[in-house]
Formats: sequence, C-alpha cells, structure tokens
Amino acid sequence: MSHVFGRGTGALPTAVRGDGCYLYDADGRAYLDGSGGAAVSCLGHSDPEVRAAIHAQLDKVAFAHTGFFTSEPAEALADLLVNQAPEGIDKVYLLSGGSEAVEAAIKLARQYFLEIGEPGRHRLIARRQSYHGNTLGALAAGGNAWRREKYAPLLVETSHIAPCFEYRERRDNESPEAYGQRAANELEAEIERLGPETVMAFIAEPVVGATAGAVPAVPGYFKRIREICDRYGVLLILDEVMCGIGRTGSFFACEQDGIAPDIVTVAKGLGAGYMPIGAMLCSGAIHDAIAQGSGSFQHGHTYHAHPLSAAAGHAVVQAILGRSLVDRVQRQGETLNGTLCDAFGQHANVGDIRGRGLFRGVELVEDRETKRPFDPARKLHAKVKSAAMKEGLIVYPAGGTVNGRDGDHILIAPPFIIEDAQIDELVAKLGRALETTL
Ligand code: PLP
Repeated sequence: MSHVFGRGTGALPTAVRGDGCYLYDADGRAYLDGSGGAAVSCLGHSDPEVRAAIHAQLDKVAFAHTGFFTSEPAEALADLLVNQAPEGIDKVYLLSGGSEAVEAAIKLARQYFLEIGEPGRHRLIARRQSYHGNTLGALAAGGNAWRREKYAPLLVETSHIAPCFEYRERRDNESPEAYGQRAANELEAEIERLGPETVMAFIAEPVVGATAGAVPAVPGYFKRIREICDRYGVLLILDEVMCGIGRTGSFFACEQDGIAPDIVTVAKGLGAGYMPIGAMLCSGAIHDAIAQGSGSFQHGHTYHAHPLSAAAGHAVVQAILGRSLVDRVQRQGETLNGTLCDAFGQHANVGDIRGRGLFRGVELVEDRETKRPFDPARKLHAKVKSAAMKEGLIVYPAGGTVNGRDGDHILIAPPFIIEDAQIDELVAKLGRALETTL
C-alpha cells in the first residue's frame, strides 16, 4: 500500500523515466506528454542544459537565506525576465510556484495602496472563469466553483465578473470587438458598484487555462480593461502562471493583447518541471512606492528565490531564448491547431477548438448546435483522461462551471520541442480516447 497522500484514490502508474516528449512508467510503457502535465514541461523531460545548470549550482551553493544573501542565479534570472517583460515591469520576486506568486501579487497590491496613502483600497475583482491557485488567497480570487465549494467559509470575499468567452457569450448579431467591449465594461460597472476608492486590483489570466481550456480574449478586450483600470487607479494583475513563458507564442501572453500589466505572475513553464519556481514581476512604480515608504515588502517564504530553482529557471529561459523556441511554438502551434481542426472540426461532440501557440483547448458538448454541455454527473473529462492514459497519452481534461453552466474540455499543451509526427500521434491517440469515451 502506498503511503503517499496523492490527489486521487485510485492507483497511479509510477513514473520512472522521462525522455524528450515522453514519460515512462515502471512497466516500461511510454506516455506522450501532450499537456506537459499541466502546461509545465515546456522543454520536455531530459534537457541536458537545464540538468547541468542545476548540478553546477548544487556544487556551488544550494541554499543561502534571502534575508542575508542574494544569489548569482536569482540575479541572472531576474535580469533575463525583466529584459523580456512588458514595458514598465522591472522588478522580480522569486517564489516556489504559481499559488505563491498570486498570493504575493495580491499582498503587494494591498501594501502599495497603504504606502501611497489609500488604505481604503482592499477589494479584488476577478472573473468567474478563472483559476489562480489552491492556497486560500489565490483560491478566493479564482472563480472555479468546484475548487472553491468546500472551502467557501474560509475565502475572502471577491467580486467575480463575467469572463471574455466568445464561444458561449458572444451574441449572434455582435462583432467580436463589440462583444469584447461589452464584456470588459462589466469591470467598470463592478468598480462603480463597489466604490472605486475601495477597489485595489483586477486579476485575470490573459488566456484562461485550467478552468476553461485555453480561452483567449477577443481583440480589444484587454485594451479596454487596461483603460478602465487606469481610469479608476485600479492595479491590473495578469496571471500568466500557465500561459506565460512562451506557451502562447509570445514570451508573455499579454504581448498579443497589446497591453502591459502592473503586476504579472509566472510559474509553470519557468521551471519547466525541473525545479519548483514561480515569480511575481511588478512595475518600478509599485516597487519604488514601497522602497521609499516603509522600506520593504512585508512578505517572504523560507524558500523564496531558492538558488537551485533560480538556476533551473535561468537555464530554462536561456534555452527558450537561445533556441528560438517562441518562434517554434508559433509554428508548431499552427500545425497542432490544423491537425486538431482536421480531426475534430466536424466531430458531433466537439463544440470549439481554440487557443494560441502550443496552448489549445477542445470543448466537448452533447449538442453542437445548441452548445449544450454533457451532464456533469457523467464526469466525461475524467473518463477522457483515463482513456487517453490507456492509449499512452497525457492530456489535461477538466470540467468547470462557467457562468452557471458546466462544460467539459481538454487542455493540450505539449513541450515546445514537439515534432510534427508527435503532433499526429497526439491527435490520433486523443481521437481513439474520445471514441471509447463518448
Ligand atoms: N494561476 C494559474 C493561472 C494556474 O493555472 C495555476 C495552476 O494551475 C496557478 C495559478 C497555481 O499554480 P501552482 O499550482 O503552481 O500553485
């Protein structure tokens, strides 16, 4: 009997080896990693440069507490990230994962308003279609009903407005642009309702991942969101934990929306699965308000900016940039999208195929015409996951409640190094998994 307190109750295969886009279990079975776990393994599973960088750092110094020292890899990684970051972003706070990065972002927003003499600003607005992490602050920010349900009494009150979800929310007679403005204007209405002097920040994923299966906003949506935040002095926090670090075909996903946030979080692809790491990046203005005010951000974790994690993150970002992998994501993303559309574009139970770069979602519906989802009691997404595992494929299916409706979707986010033949293999295996499940 296993003594590991895992996620589920069923027995799982034991992963014993990883090589490129494949994981192998103890029985020698190969699994094509079609989702990088959950959009994590962007470089595949055996990258020699990342492994060497971790070993080299381990041979120098594994840990030096950040209350006493900075470290070479933390400095080098922060420089690399700021070079790639949207305009105005120039400080990097390193953490151990995505939830920690989101917690830090929320606390930084609060402290910023205390420092500039606006203590009344404490409210956070988020979107119903969102996941920002499983720690209590991040869980309160997220809108995923299933994940929140059991812990509702522990969650700080957060406003949740409508997402930008073209497939389900755009009206037939509405252009994508008009829909984007309408959806974004919900933020303005909510700020007015709460009282602008009480609102601290708005948080959103530029491309929604776990809750919705790679849903990008329509053109103009985030520009309008930025305008509204500026107008009311509300900070814009973009959560790029899943969609950042090249995954969507630009280093930061928000580049494609033509905006810069005040705070942005990244994690999964940053460590590429080699070490646990996340980061919260913020504008110089926020940092300076604190530096010139109370003097320090009142936050911290023992493993904040861990040198081994920073060394891994630095090697990952260097690999992405040095090997032109963001361009490759654009190319392979188009190939993946084309292959998915060829295979499932006319499928009776596929309502939508969407996403950007190597971040794609397939929405499953009972009725294509009415977009009626399957009965959530069928737990279709979980069945697709098991059937795919039997085929030797890892994809990340989920079901979530979106604006009161349940829906099943499959998230596909393979390593950036995926080859054309492996894209064919992925889609063929997914097709067989759907056949046995639906
Ligand atoms: N934010 C987003 C957008 C995520 O997708 C996730 C994880 O899926 C998190 C935050 C939480 O990250 P972690 O699981 O590393 O704590």
